[in-house]
Amino acid sequence: MKDSDCIFCKIANGEIPSKTIYEDENFRVILDLAPATKGHALILPKEHYKDLFELPENIASDVIVLAKKLATEMKEKLGCDGFNIMQNSGETAGQTVFHFHMHLIPRYKGDRQKIEWEKKEPSQEELEAVRKQIVEQ
Ligand code: 5GP
Ligand code: ZN
Repeated sequence: MKDSDCIFCKIANGEIPSKTIYEDENFRVILDLAPATKGHALILPKEHYKDLFELPENIASDVIVLAKKLATEMKEKLGCDGFNIMQNSGETAGQTVFHFHMHLIPRYKGDRQKIEWEKKEPSQEELEAVRKQIVEQ
């Protein structure tokens, strides 16, 4: 399904032009308009899924295989030193466009880009309480 109000539906399906670096039946991969680093790209499914929670499992597995393939190619062609592969689901997590997309962010030595979080220091008891909350019914 497509969402007629969704800009990424329009981009993914070619109704709005984009800097496309890859396309197949199910995906279009475009350069981000406001890149964190040179080559920052977004994997867009052509169907509209709001976020990770709506993504069918077969598309989810294809996304990571495609991320690996493109990151490998881009590493060779752009000469980057590493990659951050990121996905934001939900406004609280920083999602701003509500059509699932995976960020591919090439990293270069000394690029001074920040993708980080404040590290907390939970006790073993606190970690155990969280573990139980997740695994217990
Ligand atoms: P989010 O914050 O939802 O994880 O990421 C949205 C990303 O989409 C941002 O990095 C933003 O720069 C990018 N973006 C937003 N609108 C457009 C657009 O119209 N074209 C392209 N190529 N990127 C966009
Ligand atoms: Zn959409």
